[in-house]
Amino acid sequence: MKRRSEPDDWDALRARVIGLGEHSHRKSHYSLSRARLQDNERFRRLLDASDEIILVVARDSGTIVDANDGACRRLGVARGDLLGRPLRDFCECPDGMLPEPPADNGSAGRLLFRMTSAGGSRFTAAGSAALESVDGAPFVSLVLLDVTEQQRAASVLREERDRSRLYLDTVPAIVVALDTQGRVTMINPFGCRLLGCGDGGLVGRDWFATCVSPTEQAVVRPYFERLVRGETGGHETFENRLVTASGRQVLVAWRSGVLHDAAGEIVGVLSAGEDITERRAAEEAAYSLAFFDPLTGLPNRRLLLDRLQHGMAASVRSKNHLALLFLDLDHFKTLNDTQGHDQGDRLLVETAQRLQASVGAADTVSRLGGDEFVLLLEQLSPKLEEAAAQSEIVAERILTRLAAPYELGHETYRGTASIGVTLFAGNDASVDDLLKRADLAMYQAKAAGRNALRFFDPAMQAAVSARAALENDLRHAVAAKEFVLHYQPQVDAAGACVGVEALIRWVNPRRGMIVPGAFIRLAEENGLIHPIGRWVIDEACRQIAAWQDDDETAALSVAVNVSTCQFKRADFVDEVCAAIETYGIDAARLKLEITESVLVEDVEDVIAKMAALRQRGVRFSLDDFGTGYSSLAYVKRLPLDQLKIDQSFVRHVLVDPNDAIICRAVIALGRSLGLGTIAEGVESPTQRAFLVAEGCGFVQGYLYARPMPGDQLREWLRLRQTEQSQVGP
Ligand code: C2E
Ligand code: MG
Ligand code: MG
Repeated sequence: MKRRSEPDDWDALRARVIGLGEHSHRKSHYSLSRARLQDNERFRRLLDASDEIILVVARDSGTIVDANDGACRRLGVARGDLLGRPLRDFCECPDGMLPEPPADNGSAGRLLFRMTSAGGSRFTAAGSAALESVDGAPFVSLVLLDVTEQQRAASVLREERDRSRLYLDTVPAIVVALDTQGRVTMINPFGCRLLGCGDGGLVGRDWFATCVSPTEQAVVRPYFERLVRGETGGHETFENRLVTASGRQVLVAWRSGVLHDAAGEIVGVLSAGEDITERRAAEEAAYSLAFFDPLTGLPNRRLLLDRLQHGMAASVRSKNHLALLFLDLDHFKTLNDTQGHDQGDRLLVETAQRLQASVGAADTVSRLGGDEFVLLLEQLSPKLEEAAAQSEIVAERILTRLAAPYELGHETYRGTASIGVTLFAGNDASVDDLLKRADLAMYQAKAAGRNALRFFDPAMQAAVSARAALENDLRHAVAAKEFVLHYQPQVDAAGACVGVEALIRWVNPRRGMIVPGAFIRLAEENGLIHPIGRWVIDEACRQIAAWQDDDETAALSVAVNVSTCQFKRADFVDEVCAAIETYGIDAARLKLEITESVLVEDVEDVIAKMAALRQRGVRFSLDDFGTGYSSLAYVKRLPLDQLKIDQSFVRHVLVDPNDAIICRAVIALGRSLGLGTIAEGVESPTQRAFLVAEGCGFVQGYLYARPMPGDQLREWLRLRQTEQSQVGP
């Protein structure tokens, strides 16, 4: 390619110029030693390898006399085409001249050039220039670096910093940065104003101890610590209360994120918070207005309907019943008219408090308006009758509490209420229908003379009334001693009667003979089981004493059923021992039947009581075995004598393989624990044969006899002996 300008001996010139940078302080000369030449070559290669743009320009003409490969690459021109071209072809220089290097010859000055490559791309180069003189001719050597990217990055950074600063200074939010110890490293002007501290006054202080409400510190600090340990997602939102310098509390909604250093380590947390104190107060006021009754503070109709919907949805899943109680104060209008609305309001407020104190935390007490209140009871039993009994208990409690005198100012007022109840489960009726039903039932309560409770469903009302009547009669039965014990024989494998089970019957003049299934549960619920149970033990011991003197009956054991709640009483052991003493019986004749439900609570207490009675000689049988709470680990620890296979397994033992397996397993278990087994509910010879063949030691059931009064038993025993001597077991 053609060289454009003087001088023509470029190589010689370059050789001279290359020497400039390194040895310019020395006197230059043309004759280079061989070693010098090699040095220069190496130096040349180094310069060529550099990304810097190195140009040597004749000072006077402005032509490029030398360039390194870096310059050629960046300017996009082959060296041959570059040499001899004016520098201004590539570089904006005023008047096409080189910039003036510093006056003192040889020292470098910092320069900035706008350059254009041959391809037209523009860039900025920064570097230094040095003025050299070779043989009296001035040259400028330029060492430049493309700093376009750096400059852009620096300007982006500057812009970002300015933006952040502007944002921090003007944003109407508190922005605070904490180090990993929770000390403030930065807080913006808004934050300072909000907290009432001077600019930077908080920097270096512990944020939590200084600014966070004392009641929330114990929650917020651990939360922060988790954040700096990287145990959360990194970006978190939460609310907390700050305390300003003047002691005012401010509710702030925060967004927080962790800050990292260059190595990616968490070095702190940056949080931006909005003061939501007023907004929250306004929301709460609006919510309260929309959903609560201003006079009593109770939920209003709207919230009740909402809770009702939720309750229905929940009961679809849980199958539990809910009850809606519609309550209306009796003669409220009279109080309002005669004593004024203030008194009326006081009564309503007091009523609301009494109602709330009468129900559980999960229940809702609402005021519909006037003197009408509606209560929603949740989580009642899935069984309708039990749910009815549960809601009846609550409603009765309410009637009792509302009937207590009210102190209204200087007046004492006595009032009552009428309650209508409807039960439901799931969403089989609409919300409106349910309210109507409860309302209707409430009117029936009013019609029945007020201070009363009525169920909407007549069948339910009948069941509730019947239960109440039964309870009443049972209370009377305890006092009037209307109970008798019947005895059902227990027979060994050879067919000999070895004992009896005592089974209670209630003989009521009006109701006739009532089996325990109809009243024991009720007695357990209302506590009457204690006097009843005491009577049973006493009566069984009396019977044992009576039989003790007769050879035919002296060896019989008497099994007595003991309810779990009865067994749990602290004085149970003493009561049993006292009865044994009173009748002077052989305690080994007494066998107590307990069920697995005694194991639900304090097992150690159960074991201690059993051990004490066993010490005395009393024996134990585990009744209804396999139907309840069977932790074999516990069963193993109980000082038992016998396992009693429940009749539900015996009933189908010959037809249901599962029942057969269970009976076999219980017998095997008894054997391995060294306990006897008895099967109850044995009705057929084949059932008996199966059980005895499997190793069951004793049987009891209609096959031998139904439970019978004590005096009939002797007769039965005699008959049995005769039969047995003829037929066998
Ligand atoms: P349990 O202790 O499991 O008593 C067995 C029940 O099965 C008795 O019913 C008995 O009459 C009945 N039964 C006996 N053999 C047969 C049979 O071959 N076929 C059928 N289908 N049934 C048979 P009962 O007397 O009505 O007693 C029911 C439950 O009431 C007893 O079950 C026991 O848990 C409880 N109970 C009875 N007396 C008392 C008592 O004095 N105190 C307590 N706390 N509970 C008692
Ligand atoms: Mg029993
Ligand atoms: Mg049983």
